[in-house]
Amino acid sequence: MNVYYDHDADLGFIRDKKVAVLGYGSQGHAHALNLHESGVPVVVGLRPGSRRWKQAEAAGLAVAPVAEAVAQADVVMILLPDEVQARVYREAVEPNLKEGAALVFAHGFNVHFGQIRPRADLDVWMVAPKGPGHLVRSEYQAGRGVPALVAVHQDASGSALPTALAYAKGIGATRAGVIPTTFAEETETDLFGEQAVLCGGASQLVAYGFETLIEAGYKPEIAYFEVLHELKLIVDLMYESGLAGMRYSISNTAEYGDYTRGPVVIGPEVKERMKEVLRQIQEGEFAREWVLENQAGQAVLEAKRHKWAQHPIEQVGPKLRAMMPFLKAHVSEEDVGDAT
Ligand code: NDP
Ligand code: MG
Ligand code: MG
Repeated sequence: MNVYYDHDADLGFIRDKKVAVLGYGSQGHAHALNLHESGVPVVVGLRPGSRRWKQAEAAGLAVAPVAEAVAQADVVMILLPDEVQARVYREAVEPNLKEGAALVFAHGFNVHFGQIRPRADLDVWMVAPKGPGHLVRSEYQAGRGVPALVAVHQDASGSALPTALAYAKGIGATRAGVIPTTFAEETETDLFGEQAVLCGGASQLVAYGFETLIEAGYKPEIAYFEVLHELKLIVDLMYESGLAGMRYSISNTAEYGDYTRGPVVIGPEVKERMKEVLRQIQEGEFAREWVLENQAGQAVLEAKRHKWAQHPIEQVGPKLRAMMPFLKAHVSEEDVGDAT
């Protein structure tokens, strides 16, 4: 596998350029601060009235309204929520983008699905850290980095890739390793992962497990521990040492049950449905649905949130978590972005 490290990247490709980082949320604060400390000139673009404006200034960064930040910049990194990017691009970014500037993303959704159609004079590339913003920041501060993906969609200047690698170096990613990809691959696999496995698949698995136990008469408190709370222990083991390492660490009873009952619960028909979910992503069906949902004010999203808030697992959860003050809530405001 081709992986780029520090010695493959030359900060010189970006140090004389002005980088506008639009947004100061999960990714935005990390990129802006890491680049700044790597000696890259940075201006943060925000909407007037953003309560993050003062935060960015207090951290020593220049801040300007989005349109002004873009007008000053040679490289514009868009770190706004994906569903607002197309509108902000139309209204404040495109009209102010310098001829020949680089337009940059940390996720390919809007470019890949045609919500943003960049002018031909622009370089368009992506540096997508494979971790939440707070980790991109804390690893950089510790002298390390979070791995990232790099992709070039449009190379008008002829130096899009070295500039992208310089950016990746500026945020610390080449310390860990940067893997080349395409906008299509990054976007489609990201959506598939979160829908089929990480968020959709895991949430539904937990909910069905919980319902099965309480419908059989077991106490909700105990069901919660067995199917939700303990999931973290297993995921941590997978994270550190893969499926094999997890299976090595659990009891032999658990391991035998895993091999023999796992495929009973998650049978081959689930894989067929995963393929259908992937097809909807690849053919743009999911993207069209999500764009329409946003135009409709996220009505379905709101209804789903309301429905899930009524689930019995949400009645018992808060009580049990209150018994465990050592479970510091990790969902701070900086982190609620799209970590997947
Ligand atoms: P956040 O939701 O954390 O970003 C919020 C920022 O966007 C805030 O500064 C907010 O400003 C600003 N903002 C929101 N709406 C507007 C608007 N209409 N005009 C101007 N500014 C606005 O985003 P993330 O950091 O989670 O995501 C940014 C990008 O990074 C996305 O493309 C995402 O897919 C990608 N990504 C995210 C990862 C993550 O871990 N979160 C991981 C890898 C990629 P205000 O203070 O005014 O609200
Ligand atoms: Mg057990
Ligand atoms: Mg995602």
